[in-house]
Amino acid sequence: MGAYADLVCRVHSILLSLLSGIQLFHKADLQLKVSPAYKPTSDYLHVIKYIVIQKAHLTGIDCQHLREVKDSGVATNYENSYYSFIQISAWIARIAKKNPKLVSRIHIGNTFENRPMYLLKVGKPSGLKKAIFMDCGIHAREWISPSFCQWFLKENMTDILDNMNFYVLPVFNIDGYIWSWTQNRLWRKNRSTISNSSCVGVDLNRNFNVAWGTIDASKKPCDETYCGSSAESEPETRAVATFIRKQLSSIKAYLTMHSYSQMILFPYGYSYEKTMNHEELNEIAKGAVEAIESLYGKKYRHGTSAATIYPSSGCSDDWTYNQGIKYSFTFELRDKGKHGFLLPESEIKPTCEEIMLAVKFIILELKILLSLLQYKPVLKSRSLMFLILFP
Ligand SMILES: [Zn+2]
Repeated sequence: MGAYADLVCRVHSILLSLLSGIQLFHKADLQLKVSPAYKPTSDYLHVIKYIVIQKAHLTGIDCQHLREVKDSGVATNYENSYYSFIQISAWIARIAKKNPKLVSRIHIGNTFENRPMYLLKVGKPSGLKKAIFMDCGIHAREWISPSFCQWFLKENMTDILDNMNFYVLPVFNIDGYIWSWTQNRLWRKNRSTISNSSCVGVDLNRNFNVAWGTIDASKKPCDETYCGSSAESEPETRAVATFIRKQLSSIKAYLTMHSYSQMILFPYGYSYEKTMNHEELNEIAKGAVEAIESLYGKKYRHGTSAATIYPSSGCSDDWTYNQGIKYSFTFELRDKGKHGFLLPESEIKPTCEEIMLAVKFIILELKILLSLLQYKPVLKSRSLMFLILFP
């Protein structure tokens, strides 16, 4: 990127930091509250859009950060664009309001910077149900992950929702996600400050209470994998863990979305030992990667986290597994490193489409295993049955 492009991107960052006082309130329709230091007019965002986008456009600058400004206050399509947190929040409020019988919002806690964390519960009202918990965006820079949670929720869920509820957390690490939009595109951790250190942030996926602080987890606050001062030291981890603990009797599967490297992983990460139901998990993951490949030919690997990606401790899927959620999976979405975390927006749609097939496959398997289907499957080939149920 040339010096002028650099300058425009820097101007953009400064403008966004001016806007960092923006908070969203969910009680009524979308409202914006801006830091009192700045006196916004209704044209405020449009003025910024004019200054930055026009300059970027004229010089042909491709700066992914510009998306925040370009899209602020303007309804765009998340299938082809990454959404800022402001947009995701507005979208969450909108779908809950639009589908009051199917979707409800649950406040599970607040982030370190005191932003509310909302979980979406999706399900038909009747009867006792089993549930699947899915989270996206535990690592800030993995923007394709929140895109998938949005994609998942817009799907026609009629079939999926029979006898099954979903808890979906669209952005786990909200503070970090906002930071990755406004200050540092490659930010990974949350934004908690640490006593006696000038470094900021804990790796939330090293902060769960499972083999905490042992493997591939750092005790140094400046490291990318800093695991925090103790297990569940972070409000975000605590909020999710507390919710899951309360719902343990209903949650039967846990899915967590990351990028990149194209993999479907399952426990353990902290040990090379095999779990009690290793073969079962392996079969499900194998079917899921085959479902992915059937669409655009993309190859995903599958296996235990320790053996397939690298050993690590304090991770969410190992923790949920040890809590008794025997179907816990970590997805690593596209790509394999060409663009890495900066996956082009043109790949949002195909990535979400192929991952949706894998998730549907897992749901189907789970329904079979938990005997939740109205009928007994008579087909020997599960992949054939999958095609029939989810053409
Ligand atoms: Zn990640």
